[in-house]
Amino acid sequence: MFKNFLFPNSRMKYVKKNHENECKDCGCIFCNIAKDDPKTPTKKLYQDDTLMVVMNIYPYNVGHLQIVPVRHVVWFDELTKKERVAIVEMINKTVKLIRKVETPVAMNIGLNMAGDCAGGSITHLHVHVVPRYKRDFGFMEVTNSTRVIVEPIEETYKKLMKNAKILGGK
Ligand SMILES: [Zn+2]
Repeated sequence: MFKNFLFPNSRMKYVKKNHENECKDCGCIFCNIAKDDPKTPTKKLYQDDTLMVVMNIYPYNVGHLQIVPVRHVVWFDELTKKERVAIVEMINKTVKLIRKVETPVAMNIGLNMAGDCAGGSITHLHVHVVPRYKRDFGFMEVTNSTRVIVEPIEETYKKLMKNAKILGGK
């Protein structure tokens, strides 16, 4: 993916600093979504006592979902066994849902923990389920740093909600 690598020594001081408590009081988007905070925009597909499934409203691709424990957990080894099992089962269900509603040719599944250092912006642990389509990376992405999402998010949300019983809902 990358053709060149830089190894700047000046960044090491920042990288090695303990950043763990820097964002204690900044609020957590996923905790707000779990509490149905009306000020936090979301496209929630499912929630039970253990976890929820939301659409990423800044998707990498059509049908990009996130599986999130309801409890604010940062590290994978802080999850209870019940939460770990529920997440794995939910990965299976989200794959089934996406394959029913869209036409992916592949998928990427990735787990973010501890936020921005892992490439994410939220410290609350979450799993990305990203469907991939034939030629889903085009001219705008390569030349313009702009992601083109070919289906309006509202339309995808409606299709997913119509089949959300696959996730365990009513
Ligand atoms: Zn949280």
